Amino acid sequence: MMKYICRHCGKTYPITSMRYICECGSLLHLSYPKTPPDFGSLGNDHSLWRYRSALPPFERETIEQITMGEGGTPIIRLEENLFGKADYLMPTLSFKDRGAVMLAALMAEAGVKRCAIDSSGNAATAVAAYAARGGITTEVFVPASTSAKKLTQIEAHGGRIHAIDGSRDETARATIDYVNASGIFYASHIFNPFFWEGTKTYIYELYEQFETLPEVLIVPVGNGTLLMGVYIALQELKAWNPIDSYPLVIAFQAANCAPLAQAYEKRSLVPQSVAVSPTLAEGIATGVPARGKDILQAVHELGGRFVTVTEEEIIKAHSDLAKKGVYVEHTSAANYAAYRVAVEKDATLADKKALIPLCGAGLKSAH
Ligand SMILES: [Zn+2]
Repeated sequence: MMKYICRHCGKTYPITSMRYICECGSLLHLSYPKTPPDFGSLGNDHSLWRYRSALPPFERETIEQITMGEGGTPIIRLEENLFGKADYLMPTLSFKDRGAVMLAALMAEAGVKRCAIDSSGNAATAVAAYAARGGITTEVFVPASTSAKKLTQIEAHGGRIHAIDGSRDETARATIDYVNASGIFYASHIFNPFFWEGTKTYIYELYEQFETLPEVLIVPVGNGTLLMGVYIALQELKAWNPIDSYPLVIAFQAANCAPLAQAYEKRSLVPQSVAVSPTLAEGIATGVPARGKDILQAVHELGGRFVTVTEEEIIKAHSDLAKKGVYVEHTSAANYAAYRVAVEKDATLADKKALIPLCGAGLKSAH
């Protein structure tokens, strides 16, 4: 049976509960029975629902109501050994659709009519769009500095904007206050583990597209939405035998906002309290990551490492990707910058097949 579990105290909650956190104050994880996808003979559904046996067991009618065919994004060759996965080609133009469709399906089955989400933009856009398909209204909390283009799209989907005059972290606190006061469902891509069940399909797709996994995976980390999905999928693939060792996972943060990369440098599994400056990589500008310990633990278990990228490196990567025909957000371009930094630090990586996510379309950016 599907349930939320607290790994700290062991308490469980039904998935129809409105809880976003355990009574003990710890964050929740998800447990449900799943079977390995039959890779290689999954039929002609190119959406992420081709992996349905390993995804939360929603009713077929629910999936048909909510889905927009998300997933199945192409691979683009960027350099001899470097490839990009074009998740900016999703229905709402970012990789967050993978997780948003899971949250919207969950809300539809739980009878939720109103939900709240906080985001730097892309997650809220995706949740507002998919929730709209389920007849669910979304209260969207964003930093007042969020790109106007993202706000326009959110409002077009019926999302109600609450612009918070403060940082991404202050926005998160305002959302939790609102959720606690109103009792509505917190459709958080950070607190709600359903989101990762969608983002994990990124790895399943890579496994099918490369007929194994690339040797090096670059993963951007702010709140760990993609990293946690990558972690879950890699563990599953190893347990199910398609792979016998993990690829090298290189997580990265903007140097201007690096509480986890700094923890890694200090060999700590606790996010560091850091001074934060603005970064063009707004999608990963999280100074106080709620899932920080989970993320550090995941990178540690995978044998991964962290690097950081400067604003100058991000701008250069953004320009260089555009010259290769790929126009993505600065947060996505930062992946290319991180690849270059990683190769500079460890020249052996240049000969390995590597992959970066191209997470969000450039047209969404304010810059
Ligand atoms: Zn607990």
